[in-house]
Amino acid sequence: MTHDHMTLDQFLQDLDRDIRAEGDWGEVADYIPELGRIDPAQFGMAIALADGQVLTAGQAGQRFSIQSVSKVFALACVLGRIGEQLWRRVGREPSGDRFDSILLLEQEKGRPRNPFINAGALVVTDELLTGRSPRQALAEILAFVRAAAEDDDIHIDKAVARSEAGSGHRNTALVHYLRSFGNLKAPPDHVLGTYIHQCAIEMSCVQLARAGRVIAGLDCAPVLLSPVKQRRINAMMMTCGQYDGSGNFAFRVGMPAKSGVGGGLLVIAPGKASIAIWSPGLDGWGNSRMGTLAAERLAEFTGWSVFG
Ligand code: GLN
Repeated sequence: MTHDHMTLDQFLQDLDRDIRAEGDWGEVADYIPELGRIDPAQFGMAIALADGQVLTAGQAGQRFSIQSVSKVFALACVLGRIGEQLWRRVGREPSGDRFDSILLLEQEKGRPRNPFINAGALVVTDELLTGRSPRQALAEILAFVRAAAEDDDIHIDKAVARSEAGSGHRNTALVHYLRSFGNLKAPPDHVLGTYIHQCAIEMSCVQLARAGRVIAGLDCAPVLLSPVKQRRINAMMMTCGQYDGSGNFAFRVGMPAKSGVGGGLLVIAPGKASIAIWSPGLDGWGNSRMGTLAAERLAEFTGWSVFG
């Protein structure tokens, strides 16, 4: 380890201790019963650096449900496939509403505000289903994530998928609503099933940090995305990655990031590092409470805010 790595590693160990001492973990996402059973008092973190080293803290090897972090990888697949045409079907503005809100869809005639709110992510998944079965579309997302992480041991947690399928009434409403505006091509149940399974991909912080290297454009990363696509995805993560909490996150952390209701957080320091944090207790916006705090402390320590 270089001197800089040792300093960062020491910071991570101190951070793990401090986070565990905080005690205010937030609430787990119990609208998906399988996630509702998880103990919120857990924390893991991994930082993949440009030279290929991965530094870790806490439960960095523990697998968790990546949920909406998967929307980043689905977007990457679709941008790779159809590029800019996607923006005809979905916008790129923050919504200022909850991740599962249906409100703006009526006003904006079925064109979701951005690819990270559920309505927008369902359109992205629908696009992935063009000319493909749900099984093939899922295989494409999984193949992308495995190639990005250079790790084939990444799978879907079927129990989580089943659990969400049994309780996903809002997403069911959203796919039908999109369909009513003509902004859904595949059968609604195919889109919903594929989306729920993509959200149920299970990864550890180490795997997620390694997968995020392709978005951070790290020197050690496999080449899966052009620099333009990396920039586009980072811009979406900065402005929309934490839903109606995105402004607060940019204010506190200043790095592009994507959250999931499993408590995962992928944070990008472009050109420098890909960071994965997991702590399943959520704040009022549905973002990991301790994950956000850890990202904020990391940004303060490293100066990795993109705002200098
Ligand atoms: N599968 C979850 C849902 O659609 C993902 C939401 C999230 O992680 N914010 O409700």
